[in-house]
Amino acid sequence: NELFDKSTTFADLGLSEDVVTGLTASGFEHPTGIQAALIPPVMAGKDVIGQAKTGTGKTAAFGLPVLSMCDPNIRAQGLVLAPTRELAAQVAGELDSLGRATNIRTSVIIGGESMRDQKKSMEKGGHLIVGTPGRVMDLHARGQLSFNHIRYMILDEVDRMLDIGFLEDIRKILKNIPAAIDKPVTEGGRQTIFVSATMDVQIERLARSFMKKDAEKITTVSGSLTVAMVDQKYLPVEPWDKRALLLKLLVKEKPETTVVFCKTKATCRKVAEYLKKKELNVRELHGDLHQSKRNKVMEAFRKEKVDVLIASDLAARGLDVDHITHVINYDLPEDPEIYIHRIGRTARAGRRGHAWTFVTPEQGQMLTDVEKMAGAEITKMEFPDFKPGPVP
Ligand code: ADP
Ligand code: MG
Repeated sequence: NELFDKSTTFADLGLSEDVVTGLTASGFEHPTGIQAALIPPVMAGKDVIGQAKTGTGKTAAFGLPVLSMCDPNIRAQGLVLAPTRELAAQVAGELDSLGRATNIRTSVIIGGESMRDQKKSMEKGGHLIVGTPGRVMDLHARGQLSFNHIRYMILDEVDRMLDIGFLEDIRKILKNIPAAIDKPVTEGGRQTIFVSATMDVQIERLARSFMKKDAEKITTVSGSLTVAMVDQKYLPVEPWDKRALLLKLLVKEKPETTVVFCKTKATCRKVAEYLKKKELNVRELHGDLHQSKRNKVMEAFRKEKVDVLIASDLAARGLDVDHITHVINYDLPEDPEIYIHRIGRTARAGRRGHAWTFVTPEQGQMLTDVEKMAGAEITKMEFPDFKPGPVP
């Protein structure tokens, strides 16, 4: 298995004793490649940009050393930012579980949920803060979240966090952290760690402008950006046949747990309604839903109570649900990098997975672009059960 570095153990990587003890209890035996490569320089105080494929344990790669270095007497000393509420909640949960044998606690600071509860959680623990930029800025502006003690600054999905949608917020947050970039933590400075599965040269350059001059780029990616364990296929289809093709695939191929990605919230809704009428066990997840609804859907999905999740790109990045066996791209994503993240929802931590992509006749070039970006071959799927025709 290419995922794990069996020549090392977590105890070899310089992590604190408590953190190693917690890992033994959680059943993590060997570090993954990115964990073995990233943990020692982070423990040595370096700023690090880490790139590794989807599902290879980047959360623990930054989480374990930060948990090891944290001081249990200081609140809000680490700040992790992520692009969606669901991902922030997941990362916070993972840090809490990785740190179970330590005295370090994590608080999640995200929009759509009670500020009061979040404040309480920060008062009880809150050594590490994991959040989405909007709510983090909001609580900071209200004087309820101080940046004065932040020593560890982490951006998960860094390429997304530094693209135009988030860049100004990130700049603002970073500017408000008093710890100097160019000093080590031991001298009151800040250590910065950025990770993603995708990172082009422009993003890397921009990322470095927020880091120490000797920041190290650590990558375990060479050649393909997608995981070998995911079998990638495409299905040619006319736009008006997509719904019927999706239904046929779900009924005939019987994938166990599937995420279907659509381009818009409206399409998510329509496709979900159509499949519900056909008696399939389906839920939708996108930004038009209330946060309470989003949480309910995610909870049911994680508990394996949902067969098919119809999602917008809200779910494209970071979500770790190990039983997802299939990803279906109902619509091709505009940006080829999104394809890599979407199909990375399956085949996590060494498991197998399938990615099926619908391609309409005018999208041939888009498919070629995706293949080139991913560095992977996407072959045509034979599916004789489907007969194109009028909308059923
Ligand atoms: P990434 O951020 O690289 O996409 P995650 O950090 O979400 O991946 O990790 C993917 C899954 O692998 C998670 O369920 C995580 O608990 C698990 N995992 C991470 N590291 C290890 C390890 N060393 N041994 C076993 N499982 C691991
Ligand atoms: Mg991740």
